Amino acid sequence: MHKDFDIIVAGGGIAGLTAALTAARLGRRVQVLTGDVLGGHLLSIEKIEGFPGFADGVAGYELCPITQGQAAEAGAGFEMTEVTGLQADGAGWIAATAAENYAAWAVIIATGTSLAELGIPGEAELRGHGVSHCASCDAPLLMDKVVAVVGGGDSAAQEALTLAGAASRVVILCREDALSAKAVYRTRIEAQPNIEVRYRTLAGKILGDGVVTGIATRGIDNEALVELACEGVFVYIGHQPNSQFLNGLLDLDEDRRIPVDLDLRTEAAGIFAAGTVRAGSAGQAASSAGDGTAAAINADAYLDSGIWR
Ligand SMILES: Cc1cc2nc3c(=O)[nH]c(=O)nc-3n(C[C@H](O)[C@H](O)[C@H](O)COP(=O)(O)OP(=O)(O)OC[C@H]3O[C@@H](n4cnc5c(N)ncnc54)[C@H](O)[C@@H]3O)c2cc1C
Repeated sequence: MHKDFDIIVAGGGIAGLTAALTAARLGRRVQVLTGDVLGGHLLSIEKIEGFPGFADGVAGYELCPITQGQAAEAGAGFEMTEVTGLQADGAGWIAATAAENYAAWAVIIATGTSLAELGIPGEAELRGHGVSHCASCDAPLLMDKVVAVVGGGDSAAQEALTLAGAASRVVILCREDALSAKAVYRTRIEAQPNIEVRYRTLAGKILGDGVVTGIATRGIDNEALVELACEGVFVYIGHQPNSQFLNGLLDLDEDRRIPVDLDLRTEAAGIFAAGTVRAGSAGQAASSAGDGTAAAINADAYLDSGIWR
């Protein structure tokens, strides 16, 4: 039976790009279905930290196009479209998209995560008008303004530091008693005079008529709302894995991530998962790139042998 591709990669983040690069270098016919964001989360990161080879960090908008270029040079094809479902097709799989179906012998799922939303009044209405997930995109628009960052983990801390380079004041609204971000970020935040952290504080409502003019917050044990005038609200309160499109094809863990074995094989023959969509991911750019490489090598070995386990 003929199939147009050996391997379909679902996802164009660092895991998917690296999987495509590796599989194409192994001589496989590879098609990447990238979804909306070619480059994934890293695309908008001003300074990716902890990625090997870049002592001073590297901008995501540099690293991702370079990696995509390498994969394309090696022969991988790219389509900026979302996978809406996978279905078995003999010994292989069909990846469905809104426009067409793609048939391959193996699939590497690298669909990553989406940033979680607060679900509070004003958030949806003012998205793109001051409510944002992208500090590096919007920081230049917020020069000398006050901004709020919601969250206390690595992403919130890192993006608050990016914003502090432009905004006059950055207020981090942290639900817990302490930031859960890595020590390296906490130390930098303490040393940054224009960042204030408000602990045990919840976002209640985003204010504004057409554009953000403030955020109403409340204490964790206190219903009274306090208004903070600001022109940007950046939300980093966690991640939701992009696994909905599987529609029950694979069992997911309690966080809706895809369980895999040590070879990144899922429960379905021919389907691998790589990067932050898989259970047990270390959540870093380097680990996601490593996953992409490993998944591609394991998929290549599977296609050579025809043996799944
Ligand atoms: C603000 C922030 C700062 C960060 N800073 C760092 C850092 O400094 N250092 C570090 O190591 N890590 C950092 N990270 C973590 C890093 O971004 C992730 O580890 C990495 O992006 C994971 O890559 P991924 O390819 O698994 O997923 P993602 O980056 O989430 O990419 C997912 C890809 O899948 C696509 N997709 C989604 N659904 C579908 C679908 N149905 N069909 C097809 N494609 C789909 C998307 O369009 C995207 O291309 C940061 C994350 C955030 C949010």
